[in-house]
Amino acid sequence: MNEQWSRRDLLRLGALTALTAPVIAHGRSSQIGPAATIICSRGEAWGRKVLEPAWQTWLSSGSMLDAVEKGANVVELDPEDTSVGYGGLPNEDGVVELDASIMAGPFHQCGSVASLQSIKTPCSVARLVMERTDHIMLVGEGAKQFALAHGFKEENLLTDKAREAWLKWKAGLSTNDDWLPAGEKPVQRPTGTINVLGVDDLGDLFGITTTSGLAYKIPGRVGDSPIIGAGLYLDNEIGAAGATGRGEEVIRTCGSFYTVSRMAQGMSPQAACEAACRRIIEINRGVVDFNVKVIALNKAGEVGCAQLQGRAGTHVSFINGKGFTALEGAIQMAKK
Ligand code: ASP
Repeated sequence: MNEQWSRRDLLRLGALTALTAPVIAHGRSSQIGPAATIICSRGEAWGRKVLEPAWQTWLSSGSMLDAVEKGANVVELDPEDTSVGYGGLPNEDGVVELDASIMAGPFHQCGSVASLQSIKTPCSVARLVMERTDHIMLVGEGAKQFALAHGFKEENLLTDKAREAWLKWKAGLSTNDDWLPAGEKPVQRPTGTINVLGVDDLGDLFGITTTSGLAYKIPGRVGDSPIIGAGLYLDNEIGAAGATGRGEEVIRTCGSFYTVSRMAQGMSPQAACEAACRRIIEINRGVVDFNVKVIALNKAGEVGCAQLQGRAGTHVSFINGKGFTALEGAIQMAKK
């Protein structure tokens, strides 16, 4: 360990002491509500796939950071999900570029990667950025080289399913190019992403947001997911929030930070998610033809979810000592 590291570690230790001392003095652990809870921005089917292994990891390791990473990895590694990790829809050149962020509440640590190619689990790379560097964000080739140096494997992330969807999109783009349309309706650009947020039995918060971003984006486009305060934010004294949907709108409202700041003012997670959606409607002067969904969790394990518009159902799920629950039909804030 060099001198710089030990100085920094001391600073962090000082920060931790400052953070925990008054809390312990007030008997924090006895005031915290129903202990550990993990939530994710998916409903029944994906929710179970993500949260059950996350919960098992929490039970066996006692690490909520490991637990949220485990849950996010499930979607990242699944080729059937076309909005996250391996199997994600590519950029307009047919290259899969991934964005992810992670936060750990006790030291208010952050890590993120953007436009990362060829690595299946970007949230795990973001975790290494958080834990093994004095930086917060690595992008593109630098992020990839960092991952390779840490033993991640370079792999082709473009599955046949995603490649065929991309070809269809290309063919339907214009009647003035050399690509012949497949004779079908214009291809919609699906949205996705997953947020996994957890509070442990001490009330410490951890969170991840991971995505392949906007389908068929301009190469190099970075969305909200890897930006701390946009696609993910948490304050260990208050709660955590994550966003999915049109990243540009989430960035320009600092969506997750906005949500947590509303919880800091005393709002419930549900009211705070609704406030964040209202803010987006406000800055768009009421004209909203896209979706953004916000989910939130506070230290007591209470859950919130609201979205601008979107499909009914499949909105947020959570798991705690009482088992798994999917909350279907999140409040839709924008008029159709
Ligand atoms: N928020 C992601 C982005 O803009 C996309 C999504 O959630 O669908 O990159």
